[in-house]
Amino acid sequence: MKKMKKLTALALAGVMMLSAAACGSKEDAATGSGESAAKETITFGTNAEFPPFEYVTAQGTIGEFDGIDMAIAKQIGDDMGKEAKINNMEFDSLLLALDNGQVDAVIAGMTVTDERKEAYDFSTPYYTATQVMIVKEDSDIKTAEDMKDKKIVVIQGYTGETCVKDLGYSYEAFKKGTEAVLELVNGKCDVVVIDSATAQKFVGDNEGLKIVEDPAAFEAEEYAIAVKKGNTELLNQINASIQKMLDNGTVSELSAKYLDMDVEEDASSSDAE
Ligand code: GLN
Repeated sequence: MKKMKKLTALALAGVMMLSAAACGSKEDAATGSGESAAKETITFGTNAEFPPFEYVTAQGTIGEFDGIDMAIAKQIGDDMGKEAKINNMEFDSLLLALDNGQVDAVIAGMTVTDERKEAYDFSTPYYTATQVMIVKEDSDIKTAEDMKDKKIVVIQGYTGETCVKDLGYSYEAFKKGTEAVLELVNGKCDVVVIDSATAQKFVGDNEGLKIVEDPAAFEAEEYAIAVKKGNTELLNQINASIQKMLDNGTVSELSAKYLDMDVEEDASSSDAE
């Protein structure tokens, strides 16, 4: 009798183990992660203050991070069979984070410039932008030259800062685009110089503002992903992914989707616009 009990217990334990295994495989199938709970990761550095490319929201594409760049980063991770992670930091610190190995790549609506190209390698560009001026609706600023004697605000370390510096005008630099735009809304400055798509988002989110373009003064800029100089293996993988997304229309779809989305609210309530 005692022996019987022991056998039953063993059999029961066996059944439990089997069902545990079944549960496991069910979960694996649902997450698509298979056996490897510790999936390899690829860490992207960004500055999530740059809608529609990267911003923080309740539920984003990668954790709380959402935007065109975040969707691109996720797809690159998927294509590499890795989990894409985000390290959010100040824009100014992003390239340094590549140097010290804190991040594998930087995706931050980052313009390829000669200066940056000297120290870092850049992927195939995936987006073309330009600097524009955000002004109050009743502003008399019509060209970049009209900014001359105005109170100009830029964002620290952005290419917009370089542009205004090159024009020889004095300016004040803020850390965040939202802070710069608030300064304008509150009448404390006359113009904010910032990237076109981001300007579009800010003007959409704030009443009484408009965009002034001056293609003669501001050249086209190309956004690309930065990696450590010489990291050809990673660069090739990123480029393959980007090329695929450019060819199959993913990048255009993402641009249209996120430019249209109300960043202030959840995607689900964006039809309230
Ligand atoms: N495109 C600009 C630059 O590279 C701004 C990028 C950003 O703020 N994320 O400087």
